[in-house]
Amino acid sequence: MEIESLDKLLEDSLKDIYSAENQLLKALPKMAKAASNETLKEAFTSHLEETQGQVERLDQMAELLGIKLKGKKCKAMEGLLEEGKEALEAEGPEAILDSNLIAAAQRVEHYEIAAYGTARAFAKQLGHEEVADLLQETLDEEKACDEKLTTISIDEILPQASSDAESEDEEDAAGDEDSEEAVATTSSRKSRR
Ligand code: FE
Ligand code: FE
Ligand code: FE
Repeated sequence: MEIESLDKLLEDSLKDIYSAENQLLKALPKMAKAASNETLKEAFTSHLEETQGQVERLDQMAELLGIKLKGKKCKAMEGLLEEGKEALEAEGPEAILDSNLIAAAQRVEHYEIAAYGTARAFAKQLGHEEVADLLQETLDEEKACDEKLTTISIDEILPQASSDAESEDEEDAAGDEDSEEAVATTSSRKSRR
């Protein structure tokens, strides 16, 4: 394929993102369904709604530029979602599986951030201010989503994930209180080394 101009590069980038977003529309409900943590479930569901708006924004851009966005497949998103499918099918403690889902989702968000950031720069260089503004709006949503996933991970899921792992090690411990004490001893022993 020949990309002879910046206009053509912007068009090609938007087609790629359009395909990526449409693939995500199918994947996000599955991720919401697979998440155990309620905050995470909610984050996936609200990002699904945002994604619908992002596709509409892309349609607006296509109209502004007088181009069509169908007919290209984003192979990167296809691959990321193939990995994501492994995360959906994995088995294990809830918090570990949720952490795996977050890792898959953040890979997706970072791909989108790169794609929207570069497309926005192309649009700006070409003087397509309205298109650049629309791309910026979506870019902001992708970044916010990424940050929200980091917060959920650090505040809610990772503390649970490490205690899940410890309690599997301590399965023979007599009761909850005992095993918590054992965990505390283990971690303080580790930190003294
Ligand atoms: Fe998106
Ligand atoms: Fe792509
Ligand atoms: Fe996104």
